This record gives sequence, C-alpha cells and structure tokens, in this order.
Amino acid sequence: MGQKNGSLIAYNFLEKRIINSGFCTLCGACEAACPVSALHIEGEKVKHSHDCSKDMDLCPICYEICPHSEALLLRSLSFVADTPMKNEALGYYRKIVLVQAVDPKIRELSHGGGVVTSLLKYGIETKAIDSAIVSQGESENPAMPKASVALVPDDILSAIGSKFFPSSVAKAYGSAVYGYGKSNIAFVGVPCHILALRKLEAWQHKISGNLKITIGLFCFGTLSLSSLLDYINKTYKTAPSEIKRIHLSSKLVVHTERDIIRIPLSEVADHILPSCRTCTDFTSELADISIGGAYPLKDWSTVIIRTKAGEDFFYKAVADGIINTWVIEQEPTVVERVMIAAMQKRKAALKKAKEMEEVYGYLPTLMLRETDDLAKIKIGEIMAKNVRTVSESMTVSKFLDLVAKHHHIGYPLVNTNDEPVGWVTLEEASSVDKDKRDETLVGQIARRKLVVVYPDETALDAFKRMSENETGRVLVFDRPDSKKLVGIVTKTDLMHILTKQ
Ligand SMILES: Cc1cc2nc3c(=O)[nH]c(=O)nc-3n(C[C@H](O)[C@H](O)[C@H](O)COP(=O)(O)OP(=O)(O)OC[C@H]3O[C@@H](n4cnc5c(N)ncnc54)[C@H](O)[C@@H]3O)c2cc1C
Ligand code: SF4
Ligand code: SF4
Ligand code: SF4
Repeated sequence: MGQKNGSLIAYNFLEKRIINSGFCTLCGACEAACPVSALHIEGEKVKHSHDCSKDMDLCPICYEICPHSEALLLRSLSFVADTPMKNEALGYYRKIVLVQAVDPKIRELSHGGGVVTSLLKYGIETKAIDSAIVSQGESENPAMPKASVALVPDDILSAIGSKFFPSSVAKAYGSAVYGYGKSNIAFVGVPCHILALRKLEAWQHKISGNLKITIGLFCFGTLSLSSLLDYINKTYKTAPSEIKRIHLSSKLVVHTERDIIRIPLSEVADHILPSCRTCTDFTSELADISIGGAYPLKDWSTVIIRTKAGEDFFYKAVADGIINTWVIEQEPTVVERVMIAAMQKRKAALKKAKEMEEVYGYLPTLMLRETDDLAKIKIGEIMAKNVRTVSESMTVSKFLDLVAKHHHIGYPLVNTNDEPVGWVTLEEASSVDKDKRDETLVGQIARRKLVVVYPDETALDAFKRMSENETGRVLVFDRPDSKKLVGIVTKTDLMHILTKQ
C-alpha cells in the first residue's frame, strides 16, 4: 500500500498504479467497497472526494479489490477451481453447450442467443433472484451502457444487447445492496467485472454475501468512449448527439438519423482501453456461467457452465422450457473458434505486458491463470545462481564498465564481510555527473533496502514482493543462514517463464 502522512492507505496505490496509469475500466468496485464513500465515478474518471487518510491510518480495500491489481487473484480463482474440468484456453468448467432463448423476440432483440436476458428474466419471475445488475442503454444514446439494478422483467428486457463501452456494474451492485436492500442478486459483466466481484468475495466484504449468481460475458475489450467519439466526430464528421446506436459485427456500425457509418475494426482497435491490452481472460473464467457468441451460428450463444451454482440455475431454466440447448460437439467450429480467440487474447496480452513492464517498471496486474502457474513454481527452481555482486568501495566509473560488459543493469551491494546491504542500478549510477564518477563510490549512491525471498517460497511470492516494493528484482537468501545470498530473481525471469508456458 502507499504511504501518506505516516498512514497506510490503499488509495495512494490505486491512484498511481491503476487510475493515473490508465488501467481503470470504470467498474465501480472501489466505489462500492470504500468504507467511507470517498470514491466516486464521474464521467470516465474515479474521483477521490475526500482525503481518507484523515479518517483512518490503514485501509487496504480499494487497491486489493480492483480487478487490475495483483492482489487476491489466487483466492478469487478458488471460487471455480473445484470444478472437474480445466481447459488451457477456457479455464475451469463443468459443461459447454450451445444455447438459445426459446422466445424468438428475445433472440431478435439481442442479436445473439438472448440467453443472458432469458436467464435473468426467468430468475426474477421465479424469485430465484430478487434483482439483477444489468447494463441498459442510456436513453439518449443507447450505445452507452448505464449500469442499473433490474427489479422486474421489463428492466431486464430493456438491457438486452451488448454495449462496447465501460459499464460501472460493480457500483450498481453496491446500490442494489445499500440502496435497494437486495440480498439475492444476479450480476452480469465482462471478465474484469466478474473478477471485481470475486475479489469482494475473497476479501469477505460485507456486500459480497448478497451475490447469488454471476454471469460473465466473453470479452475482447471495451472502448474508450471519449476517444472513439472524438475520432468519429473528426474522421466521419458525426457528433456524439447524432449517434443513435452502435453495433459491432465485422465492422463497428454507427447508426445515425441520417445514415449508417461502417468503421473497420482496425480503426476501432486504436480506442480499446489500455487494460484490455494486457487482459488475458476472454471467457470470464471466474463466472458461475460464461456466455458468448457462437460464430458462425446465428441466434445461438456458447455457454460455459463452471460452478455447481451455475449449473443449478441454468438447468432449472432448461427444465422449464425457457432456453434450448444443443450439443456443442455437433458444431466443432464453434468451440474451436472460441478457444483460438481465448488463446490469441492471452498470447497478445502477455506480449503487451512484457512491453508495458519496460515502460512502468512493474506490472499493474498479473493475470489470473498466470498467478496460478507462478504459485506452483519454487524460487529454488528458477533463481539465477552465482550472483555477481559489487562492493561498497567500487567507483561509479568501474560500475558502469561492469554494466556495459555484463549487460545486467542492477547488482547487489555487499559490505566488507560479503553480506548484501543494498542495491545499485544503472539508474542511480548514470545520474552521477560524468566528472564525479571516478571519485563517487557505489556505496554512496546505493539503495539500502533489500527485498528478499527464500528458495522454498514460490515465484508468486517473488512477484508479490516485487510489486509491493516497486522493484523489478528480489534477492534470494538461504533459509538457514539468512545473511547468505544464494540467488536472484528478476521480473523478466517471471515473464519469461509465463510466456514460455
Ligand atoms: C464489451 C463486450 C465485449 C464482448 N466481446 C465479445 C467477443 O469478443 N466475442 C464474443 O463471443 N462475445 C463477446 N461479448 C459477448 C456478447 O456480445 C454477448 O453479450 C453474449 O454473447 C451474450 O449474448 P446474449 O444474447 O445471451 O445476451 P443478451 O441477452 O443480449 O444480454 C446481454 C447482457 O449483457 C449486459 N451488458 C451489455 N453490455 C455490457 C457491458 N458493457 N458491460 C457489462 N454488461 C453488459 C446487459 O446487461 C445484458 O444483460 C462481448 C460483450 C461485451 C459487453
Ligand atoms: S478509505 Fe476508501 S479510498 Fe481510502 S483507501 Fe480505503 S477504500 Fe480506498
Ligand atoms: S476498482 Fe474498478 S473503478 Fe475502481 S480503479 Fe479499479 S477498475 Fe477503476
Ligand atoms: S478485455 Fe479485460 S480488461 Fe478489457 S473490458 Fe474486457 S475483461 Fe475488462
């Protein structure tokens, strides 16, 4: 957590690493979870309305429950991990089926299988749920989602169809609990929304007990509204107020009162939110039920049932004739396409994450399944041994020669007893004036804080410690002799393992 006025306040981290770095997807989980109502989504920004460090010395909530922080991922994964099957591309699941709404009107309105709408409507009608968090279209601009609490079937019907802009569904979830007093809530969202809710559950936040079922949508990304509208205005001479509906198929189709503009996806891709570029989850791997398209079939959806709760909820609707199912094995192209899309998203995200790490010096988040992978690897298996160290009496000039020769940018600093006492990196050394480098010793410029792991800890522990300390490397000390340096692990090593896997 970030430090401010001697206090430990998560908002400082949230602001620096998520909000100001452009990784916020406006889910509203931080607003719903903040114990002192200090956070509010306004437009496309999370606003900190008052300095919470005045109210408390310690609060880790908002950063930990943000879907783009590295916290609580393993515990979030545990909500689906007892499921019998695991697929490399799709995560844990029980069944995958093709599904469509029996009601043809719902299918027509949804432009897909209409499965989400049918399930929610059925849930409300049968009182299996008392409310649902949906994303209706704004009355003046139906392409823009307005997260809301659906209480009756008509509310569900008015949210039908996908909107490709951020929706503050987790904030609406907070309103369902606090504002409407609902206790059996169905929640619909894209993978990062579902992760936010799972993190609230993992945190055991008081509002999480009111969640009945999560329905996750497949997601390739959401678009930055301001960026895209600006682009459409400039390039296609169409003001935001003229847009009636936006639909995404092989092109982004913008309906206005006058005409229809078809924008190639290559142009649209420039306006995807930064977080989406490092997001590895395509199929909402933590949802009870995940739902996406079933291309090339029309009017059908691909449904991945992951948990027992999801299975019970889903098959009640099947038994009551609300939705039709079809065996996916009869349509091998559908599942193949979903798997390819999921793998491509993961691969592209890992590549982008590597590039971003170079820019930010840390990863704002580590992906879900990657976290699981890192938790299985022991530091002793991956650490670089035979670590080259530098002594406190080495000059900065000599240090820079060493960097040039060995191409490592950071070295542990050891004292005269050969005990590690700090770190020296190219960054500190190159900031010393050129004419002072022969007389300045690395002992004078070194960072004295050691970030340490042990060989019997996991690669995930190393990642967490790097993130907490905003460093790209950790020293490995011997467990029995805690002053003995036995290895080093860098963030690049971790990324290398993940991309290889
Ligand atoms: C941003 C986004 C990207 C997507 N990308 C893909 C993709 O690449 N491939 C794919 O196969 N499917 C994708 N989907 C899912 C797909 O568009 C359908 O939502 C899904 O197939 C369910 O179809 P349905 O007919 O059952 O849904 P419907 O019955 O039409 O219900 C849709 C539900 O989605 C909710 N919703 C709409 N927009 C949002 C939003 N922005 N955030 C949260 N909830 C929302 C509504 O509340 C509604 O309840 C995406 C969806 C979204 C929102
Ligand atoms: S009080 Fe609210 S804003 Fe402050 S750290 Fe806690 S959750 Fe974040
Ligand atoms: S919790 Fe949601 S709204 Fe808050 S900073 Fe994270 S992504 Fe943004
Ligand atoms: S791609 Fe990932 S980060 Fe972006 S909206 Fe979808 S789930 Fe959220």
